[in-house]
Amino acid sequence: MPRLVVVSNRVPLPSERGPQAGGLTVALADALQPGSLWFGWSGRRSGQPHAEPRQHRADGITYGTIDFTEADYRAFYVGFANGALWPLLHFRLGLVNFRREDYEGYRSVNRRFAEALTPLLRSDDLIWVHDYHLFPLAEELRRLGVTNRIGFFLHTPFVPPTLLHVLPRSTELLRAMCRYDVVGFHTQTYRQAFLDCVHDILGISAGSDGGFLCAGQRVRAVVDPIGIDAEGFAEAAVQAERSAEARRLRESLGGRALAIGVDRLDYSKGLVSRFEAFARLLGKYPEDRRHVSFLQIAARSREDSSAYQRLRRELDQLVGDTNGRFSEFDWVPLRYMTRAVRRQTLAGFYRVARLGLVTPLRDGMNLVAKEFVAAQDPLDPGVLILSRFAGAAEDLTEALIVNPFDADAMADAMHQGLSMAHSERLRRYRALRERVWDTTAAKYCATFLSYLGQGHVPSPQRILQDAL
Ligand code: ADP
Repeated sequence: MPRLVVVSNRVPLPSERGPQAGGLTVALADALQPGSLWFGWSGRRSGQPHAEPRQHRADGITYGTIDFTEADYRAFYVGFANGALWPLLHFRLGLVNFRREDYEGYRSVNRRFAEALTPLLRSDDLIWVHDYHLFPLAEELRRLGVTNRIGFFLHTPFVPPTLLHVLPRSTELLRAMCRYDVVGFHTQTYRQAFLDCVHDILGISAGSDGGFLCAGQRVRAVVDPIGIDAEGFAEAAVQAERSAEARRLRESLGGRALAIGVDRLDYSKGLVSRFEAFARLLGKYPEDRRHVSFLQIAARSREDSSAYQRLRRELDQLVGDTNGRFSEFDWVPLRYMTRAVRRQTLAGFYRVARLGLVTPLRDGMNLVAKEFVAAQDPLDPGVLILSRFAGAAEDLTEALIVNPFDADAMADAMHQGLSMAHSERLRRYRALRERVWDTTAAKYCATFLSYLGQGHVPSPQRILQDAL
């Protein structure tokens, strides 16, 4: 078996993981067998970072990390990746802030990643690169003579050619994506958008399997939806339902239904329109007023960006307005906390909830939608309200699918969910459950690795070892 090398912007060392295990850590748990290497940024900024990576071992996995300078962090991470690429890939052109010096910083960090990683590589390693921070990494590795198979997976949506053109230097980035052997997306829509860009901008047509040839490199664009450990999460929810936290939550509801939202505090998550829709529900359907409480858990994120600071102020104001308008002396309609909550605790909260509100304006996949489904009580399940612009909506079609730009329609869906008959809740839940159990994290890894492993030519040492 060749060794797997995972590369992502941030490497979460086991000793430093907080209360929420990141989506990627959970998703890759099956792929990262002992012997694997995970390489990326340590999360630290230092004045004079070492060129050579620091190496740590835990549970048989080697973690290779490098530090950033403050300038790297500003240009690569805050500037180009999160200030230009993230809004573009989430269709928020008004928030795209392109600065040439940030782009240069982005390219130079990718070069540094390649220089630090190359000496650690073996000739038959399979290299799996994650996300928009690292579009040019394969190009940099190839420049250093790396001929291994390299795969890339994009965890965000991809945009059609008319939008990609908005970003200066996008043609360069698109060409860089074509230095990978495999390029993976969560949905058919994103893959098609990528292939349309390759066609319209680079003039290359792909075959029906998403394969094409670009400057001598054979590339295959594939669809592979990420999932969760459905069985593990369902078990955690059963346990957590009996926890002190879930009990306290249930008692605090005083018999009312719970609507829950769980997100990073990010403008792509549609929190402003979700809060507006909830206020409309209370205004339009007075009978729901005293029968529902909405708990929004929004973990703070990217706080050194002004777009995120503005969002936070806007949400603070909306919460104040809504609660000021509708609260009664013994009922606060909207509970809002900007903290992360342990996964285990979250699982219990999802299970207590009657409504799960997952209404991003645009989202690569959205794992919260799958977690909510997995956590439900099969005999008395809650209702998932899901944005049509979340990648998850391509599969989870039995949710109440909403347009997050239409606050009235979302309010109507909330009302429909609160009053939905038990038989309909069961029918929808069973269909959703099947999809969530069908697209797990383990399947996501196995599918991608099978694409990446195809065409793998074993090294001479490997052939010798196998022959002995
Ligand atoms: P994104 O990757 O954009 O943050 P996803 O919905 O795909 O969005 O994944 C988010 C992951 O982080 C999920 O596993 C979710 O449970 C977790 N998460 C999101 N918000 C919180 C929060 N406030 N507290 C704890 N965990 C959270």
